This record gives sequence, structure tokens and C-alpha cells, in this order.
Amino acid sequence: MVIHHLNCGTLKAPFVQVDSIVYCLLVETSSGLVLVDTGFGSRDYSAPSRKMRFFLRYMGVPCNLEETAIFQVKALGYDVKDVRHIIQTHLHFDHAGGLGDFPWVNIHIYKREYLAVMNPRGIMEFAYDQSHWAHDPNWIFHEKDGSNWFGFDSIPVLETSEADFLLIPLPGHTRGHCGVAIGKPGNWLLHCGDAASPYHKDTYLYHRGESVHRLDFLSSGFASRVIGPYVPQLRNLLQEHGQEVRAISAHDKFSFQENTTGFSH
Ligand SMILES: [Zn+2]
Repeated sequence: MVIHHLNCGTLKAPFVQVDSIVYCLLVETSSGLVLVDTGFGSRDYSAPSRKMRFFLRYMGVPCNLEETAIFQVKALGYDVKDVRHIIQTHLHFDHAGGLGDFPWVNIHIYKREYLAVMNPRGIMEFAYDQSHWAHDPNWIFHEKDGSNWFGFDSIPVLETSEADFLLIPLPGHTRGHCGVAIGKPGNWLLHCGDAASPYHKDTYLYHRGESVHRLDFLSSGFASRVIGPYVPQLRNLLQEHGQEVRAISAHDKFSFQENTTGFSH
């Protein structure tokens, strides 16, 4: 299984002084390339909507085209048309901007996330930007079917000889937020999306020392409201099945640095 770990958007939000990444994955399979999340897209930098201009400035994004998924797919030597599937953890502005760079691709999404996007509520769902799907993508909607993965609900999305892809509903951050599990029994990588973060003591997956918990000034209540309720269950999973499951979260620069030393695994 070849998985490329991509940073599709550096974040240097001046108000928290924590720089971070937008963690996306590119998986090689015999059914084509599969992207998990798409980060910021070319149009976000060349012709951003008003809302995106605000977010890019607010989050201190350097707007480097070389960080877009489409640029990196080409830089890795692939034909961009070999990207056949995109699986989104959710559709926030920093996760879904690249959709417009791959208009021919099937976009797999949990049905509840799509419904939230069509009728956003509250502050967390303000962070959708409708321009990201103005090109009318090939949505493939998925719903729970009773499947289970290590005690979590799971939704089979794609099966290839190299890896299976499952949506793991982890609602809370948004109503339809999911993790994405990639692999085969015995060897899984779980992209937790925004259901965890290494930057607050109550939200990390892997303990990396007190010094990295730079957002601890935020109250625990606030941190868990933003992240959702799944951190304890995810930590249990990693504690009990750490030999079979590794996990990353969407803005986890520390895991990204570890996983890119070999660039694939
Ligand atoms: Zn988010």
C-alpha cells in the first residue's frame, strides 16, 4: 500500500501563534488514485470567494500554489486524470477547496455532511464555502449500513486489492463529520479529520509532551465542542489496537513530520 502524505495548506493563524498544516492523503490503488481531503485549491488562491479571502487571511495561509493537491499529484509524477476518487472527512473551507481542481472525480461523502452543507447551522457550519462545489461535482452519497470497525460505525466506500476505504462517522465537529479508515485487516491508517487535534491536552491522539499543547489556554469545554466527543474512544482504539491501527488528524504537523520522513509506507 503506497500512501503519500500531503500538506495541502499551511496555516499560520496569528491569533494563536501555532502553525499547522492541512493533512491530506493520496493512495495508489489498482482502481486509480484516491485522495482523502483536498485542502485549499488553486481557485482559493487565484480567485477566492469573499468568504475564502476572509478565511485565508484569518488563518494566515501563505497561499502557496505548490501546496495544492493538484500541484503535488503532478509533482509526484502522476497523471492528474488518474485521480478517480476523493473521500472527504467533511466539507469545511480548509478541507474541500481542492474539489474544483478535480471536476471529473467521484466525491464520496457521508450523506449527513451533504445535508448539513445544504442547510448549515451554527458557527461550525459557517465554515463551509459554497463556491467549493459550484462546479456541481459527482457526489456519491453514503449512509450507515450497520457495519462496524473496532466498535465504531463504519461505511464501506471503496474496496481495492491494495486497500479498503471506510467512512467512520464521528459527528460533532460538523453534523456529518467522518474519519476515513484506509487499509486491510491488520494494517490500518485512520484519518480522523477534525475529530482530534494535537494542540490541546484534551484533544490529542498521541501524547507528545506538554510543550506542544499550545492551545491549552482554551477551556476544555471549548476544545471539545470544536472537536466533538470522540477523543476518548479514539484514544482507546489506539491503546488497544495500536499494532493494527495508526491515526492522524487533519492539522497534526507532528504526525505529518514523522510520516513524511519516508514519504510513504
Ligand atoms: Zn473542520
